[in-house]
Amino acid sequence: MINYTERLSLLMEDIVARVPTLSFIDMSRVLVFARSGRTSAEGAYATCHCVCLPPSDPGYYFWRDRSTGMLTRRSEWFVTKSPEVRIGSQPIDYMVSFTVPRFCDQMLSRSRKRVHYEGQPNWVAKLDTIVHELYHIDPEGPGIRRMERADGTYSANCHGDRFFADVVAMVNQYLDTKPDPGAFDFLQHNFEDLSSRFGGVVGTAFRGFPSYPQRYTEVLQPQPAPPDAAPCRVDPLKVPRISTRFTEDDLVVREFQRQTSRQLVRRGQFRAA
Ligand SMILES: [Zn+2]
Repeated sequence: MINYTERLSLLMEDIVARVPTLSFIDMSRVLVFARSGRTSAEGAYATCHCVCLPPSDPGYYFWRDRSTGMLTRRSEWFVTKSPEVRIGSQPIDYMVSFTVPRFCDQMLSRSRKRVHYEGQPNWVAKLDTIVHELYHIDPEGPGIRRMERADGTYSANCHGDRFFADVVAMVNQYLDTKPDPGAFDFLQHNFEDLSSRFGGVVGTAFRGFPSYPQRYTEVLQPQPAPPDAAPCRVDPLKVPRISTRFTEDDLVVREFQRQTSRQLVRRGQFRAA
């Protein structure tokens, strides 16, 4: 069977070693995992998750009386926090998830990207997606890279004017370094090919599949002083009970099939990149 996330992780190591713009990325702090996503359904091929952001400033939700503008009700104070993810002694800063089988079936010929890659093979769409997610990692510190507009201001979303063009340039730059085809040739196969060629497709996933570490809300204990003089009703904040710390014990190996997936081993023999 092919361990798809492991192959992606090794390919990403090769990419950051060959593309200078991405060379600041330490792949031992990046965890690659698989999520489910059907080829026929709409949705992302991959996502870059930052798990190293500092906690937010404390805040609360509030309601005002429309005529007087007075605070009538507020929630408890809370902060939002990143989950802690560690593999052995190694803290993880970013996670990149790939949807399987959807990502395996991504094709240039069905994508808007094809205009940028004239004459290049179908699987280059997947390489573009991989570089795209790596490019979201911010060299300036924790978070998702912000893209500057031509006028020097920052774009409201993380894909500014230049983002897609920069990715195309980096994909071509990587291929121009003549990497060992063994690093990327698994991208040439769609999900059906992979399954028959390797006898199955497996990947790292979180034990709570389909859930995975996400930013969460924490009620401040003790609660700071009331936000203003006029007292008002304070509603408790309902926060779901979720895991906030994850280690290699939370990782498992799942086998992916076209419509479904199943856990293979209770505890994945996970190898950090
Ligand atoms: Zn993106």
